[in-house]
Amino acid sequence: MIKIERLTKNYGSNLAVDDISFEVGAGETVGFLGPNGAGKSTTMNILTGYLSASAGRVLIDGVDILSDPIGAKKMIGYLPEQPPVYLDMTVDEYLNFNYELKGCKLPREEHLAEICDVVKISDVRRRLIKNLSKGYRQRVGVAQALIGNPPVIIFDEPTVGLDPKQIIEIRSLIRSLGKNHTVLLSTHILQEVAAVCDRIIIINKGKIVADAKTENITRAVDTSRRFNVKVCGNQKDVIDTIKSIAGVSYVEALAQKDGDAYTYTVESEPGVDIRKKLFFTLSDKGMAMIGLEAVGMSLEDIFITVVDKNQGESDKKTAKYERQQRRGRRQRSIENEIGDTLYREAEQRRREQSESEE
Ligand code: ADP
Ligand code: MG
Repeated sequence: MIKIERLTKNYGSNLAVDDISFEVGAGETVGFLGPNGAGKSTTMNILTGYLSASAGRVLIDGVDILSDPIGAKKMIGYLPEQPPVYLDMTVDEYLNFNYELKGCKLPREEHLAEICDVVKISDVRRRLIKNLSKGYRQRVGVAQALIGNPPVIIFDEPTVGLDPKQIIEIRSLIRSLGKNHTVLLSTHILQEVAAVCDRIIIINKGKIVADAKTENITRAVDTSRRFNVKVCGNQKDVIDTIKSIAGVSYVEALAQKDGDAYTYTVESEPGVDIRKKLFFTLSDKGMAMIGLEAVGMSLEDIFITVVDKNQGESDKKTAKYERQQRRGRRQRSIENEIGDTLYREAEQRRREQSESEE
């Protein structure tokens, strides 16, 4: 439904988008994730026809945004980073204005009423936009994007500046739109895309550094590979014993003491369930395991790993220091491993793309 081919955008000497290609299939909800300055808004502005590309092509359902901007734009509802709401208009005036602007042919009253119902602004239609809260303004922006019932919805950081309750509401609205629209949503919050999207594309410094189904990322995250175990006995002996178990990849003692027991973080290699072995091995040595708790993995750390991989040579040194700070003592955490895999896959895809097209 959305096809981006080798898109590049320079602002003078600043390369904001660097030869990116991806497709979004009909009905997919895709998250476009990246740190500030990564190139998300630039990409979205190009694919909605608000900005021209330096090179490359954008097709919306086969229609080229450059050669047929009106035809392509008809299929897109866009909520830019700064919603283009006119503060001195009432919600109703604003929606009618956009209805005219888009040359919408759907029955006006019913259509607008339906949209207001969906985004829950029916009770503020006569209010001036400047008197609305940030959350309501954002919903008015969403309402504007839905006029004309476009099959493709593009939202640029729709939850920035909202309070937690408003964030939940906007996310659930996006999730419901995703049921019968093609949605592309940008954010710098990994949890956000994980909660809403089928697929996550990570962009950094204008390059795509990961593109994977959300379930593949979260499945990797949810696998029971990290536990906190509480074991009685001498710390060094316990660590040596746990380390001796096949499949254990990492052990670390935490600073928690409970009588003669300490807590340890234990990680295993992919696909290995070490819990039974852990229990019997410790028990054979007379070390009582009095607690076992699965510890979740950090999506944030995966994101950081992927983004770090893409640091240019020039800032490798400073980046290295930051990386060490972020990752702490851990040499080879599971998040690092997952991030590595994602990055390698994206790299492979980039290579294939440029080989097939050159
Ligand atoms: P994101 O939305 O991911 O935060 P942007 O697409 O806004 O990133 O910006 C990507 C890069 O392009 C940044 O380095 C930013 O400073 C630069 N940039 C964005 N808009 C302009 C502009 N109008 N003129 C010059 N540079 C710009
Ligand atoms: Mg942006």
